[in-house]
Amino acid sequence: MDISHILNHLGEDREQYFNAVAPPVVQSSNFALPSIAAFREAFSDELHHHVYTRGNNPTVEILRAKVAALEGCEDALVFSSGSAAVAAAVLSQVAAGDHIVCVRSPYSWTHILMTRFLPRFGVSHTFVDGTDMAEIEAAIQTNTRLLYLESPNSLTYELQDLEACARLARAHGIVTCIDNSHASPIFQNPAAMDIDMVVHSGTKYLNGHSDVVCGVVCSTKERIRKIFEAELMTLGAIPSPHDAALIIRGLRTLELRMQRSHDSALRIAEWLEQHPKVERVLHPWLPSFPQHELAKKQMRGAGGLFSIYLKAERIEEVEVFCNRLNRFLMAVSWGGYESLMLPMAGFYKIPGKGTPSRPWNLIRFYIGLEDPDWLIEDLRQALAG
Ligand SMILES: *Cc1c(COP(=O)(O)O)cnc(C)c1O
Repeated sequence: MDISHILNHLGEDREQYFNAVAPPVVQSSNFALPSIAAFREAFSDELHHHVYTRGNNPTVEILRAKVAALEGCEDALVFSSGSAAVAAAVLSQVAAGDHIVCVRSPYSWTHILMTRFLPRFGVSHTFVDGTDMAEIEAAIQTNTRLLYLESPNSLTYELQDLEACARLARAHGIVTCIDNSHASPIFQNPAAMDIDMVVHSGTKYLNGHSDVVCGVVCSTKERIRKIFEAELMTLGAIPSPHDAALIIRGLRTLELRMQRSHDSALRIAEWLEQHPKVERVLHPWLPSFPQHELAKKQMRGAGGLFSIYLKAERIEEVEVFCNRLNRFLMAVSWGGYESLMLPMAGFYKIPGKGTPSRPWNLIRFYIGLEDPDWLIEDLRQALAG
């Protein structure tokens, strides 16, 4: 389906709301039912009727239709955060006694879900090097129910061969789930490679304006119905209708923003790769990236993220460099209009916290919508210092 049609029109039935061009924010907790017959019908299928906003809301429904179509999936659910979406997707597939094979170093709170939260309910996991199919296969046990992927991840960008993972999992009757936040649906569609469930932190590219936290899960109608009836309705981590409207607005420009971020980030990454004070640049679209060929095979672009290892003898040199940058905000998250840096050095020397697993000369950059030359000027002056 045409992406611009999905972003700008799909799921919107304007005749239902005065032919308003922008969809209304249906800020209502509940919906009146006109008769006992209608009441019975609505309660026979809450997912497809308007009963209560913890279940189904007309504004959120428009967003669901769009993200499902973007991922080429039958249906989708929207959650109040990416972490809520990840948790719902994972919880929907496991019970006490089950086992998950998960890529090593997934998103930090996904890691905590696996290591601290699920063990309390009798669900175990094995972390694997996702770049190594043999290691993934070797980790599968008779009680493995889920293969959890993140390709690329959002700091060092390791990929998994998604077609090979789907084939392996299906041969063992295991469900696959991927966190596709990094590539966005514009640059990668895992369902087309037979991955069963696709989750996003919609906080990042989908919304794209750094003003909403949300998440999505995309899958088959059947799996989405199960998640709706269990994890969504019982845990209740739903978005507000107003946030859903903001994300719909953000989606209008998703394709344009992704291309702009991709082009600018690649230019800046190439510039940094030539700089004598930069030891190494990690970006899946650079030919120097170890899995560059796989990236080109299963993705259509790489978005705005890359990371660098600064050539530095001491952590103080990294601190000086970061403090000299004026045009990059120092902040977590990414996917908005504004360019960011996230220095691993900032996680060192925090009282009461141990030594981080990542080296202090690693800095993640996110390139937003500003002029790349204006950003390069800032990097040039900061590196000169
Ligand atoms: C941010 C992020 C999440 C969590 O999403 P929230 O919206 O912050 O809850 C999950 N996965 C990845 C890759 C992320 O970057």
